[in-house]
Amino acid sequence: MKPPSQTNAIDFDSAKLQRLGFGQQPPFLERPVSLAHLRQQLGLQLQTSLEPQRILGIFFREVQRRVPLDALSYQHTSSDLRLELGQRGHHSLSYSLSHEGEHLGELVFRRNQRFNEEEQANLESLLAALLYPMRNSLLYRAATQSALRDPLTDTGNRIAMDQTLQREIELSRRHLHPLSVLMLDIDHFKQINDTYGHSAGDQVLKAVAASIKSQLRNVDMVFRYGGEEFLILLSNTTREAAAMVGERLRIATQTADYSVDGQSIELTVSLGCSTLLPGESADSLLRRADSAMYVAKREGRNRLAMAG
Ligand code: GH3
Ligand code: MG
Ligand code: MG
Repeated sequence: MKPPSQTNAIDFDSAKLQRLGFGQQPPFLERPVSLAHLRQQLGLQLQTSLEPQRILGIFFREVQRRVPLDALSYQHTSSDLRLELGQRGHHSLSYSLSHEGEHLGELVFRRNQRFNEEEQANLESLLAALLYPMRNSLLYRAATQSALRDPLTDTGNRIAMDQTLQREIELSRRHLHPLSVLMLDIDHFKQINDTYGHSAGDQVLKAVAASIKSQLRNVDMVFRYGGEEFLILLSNTTREAAAMVGERLRIATQTADYSVDGQSIELTVSLGCSTLLPGESADSLLRRADSAMYVAKREGRNRLAMAG
């Protein structure tokens, strides 16, 4: 049997906010003091963090002073956010949260006992306190994420690369896993710009990045290292396995279709590969991959070279 569920939508328009008593003195309801008090406390507590996980954690804990719950789940698809608190329950109450047309996620309360009407009203009243903290945390999350991305190619930028590389080196040491990197540089990219124009060059860069990502399981490990250079981190990957990935990337980027204004553009890439040595620094690992890439260029381009 399908568990019973009630689905509701909440649009935090100003009329609704007024009715929920947000931004004005709360009306005297059945248990006015405690609900109003809880909502006020909740409002203050929820302002103490910009992290969605923490905000929902506080909300889940505090709301239960009025309405016992078994679980709370939250999902905001466009920011790739999915959080689960507590255990599962048979009965659920779902809310689609939005404010002024902006979607703020889906929230589901669950428990094994049915929700009665008063509890539902209480939950809805308390949900109003979640609105601004949640919206701010989503904005903050989007801002911090975009600070780590290269907007043209939608790969990680140098800041993200440095952070991730440091983390991967530590993990590799701790777990004694191999760590390899590939430096990929488009061959004669200047000619592409000169022949087809800078904006066509931009489109090609985007397409090369997409082609690289399409070949990898973990797309978070692709970074724009410079103008037409990409760095790919391969965690838990030996030198031999990295060479195979590099070869696959070389072929994929070469055979991808780069057409701009109906003209198809041919290109190749050169790659350098290095594998972390015991005690080696991030700088040295990158330098060896870069030197290997230059060897590939010298030996005729459209190839992969391994660092010694
Ligand atoms: P090589 O095979 O030796 O790598 O030759 P190359 O022409 O690719 O190398 P070079 O370093 O001489 O030129 C790189 C070119 O990439 C020069 C620069 O204008 C171009 N470039 C760098 N960033 C961008 C970008 O964001 N958009 C476009 N369209 N071009 C870029
Ligand atoms: Mg270059
Ligand atoms: Mg180049």
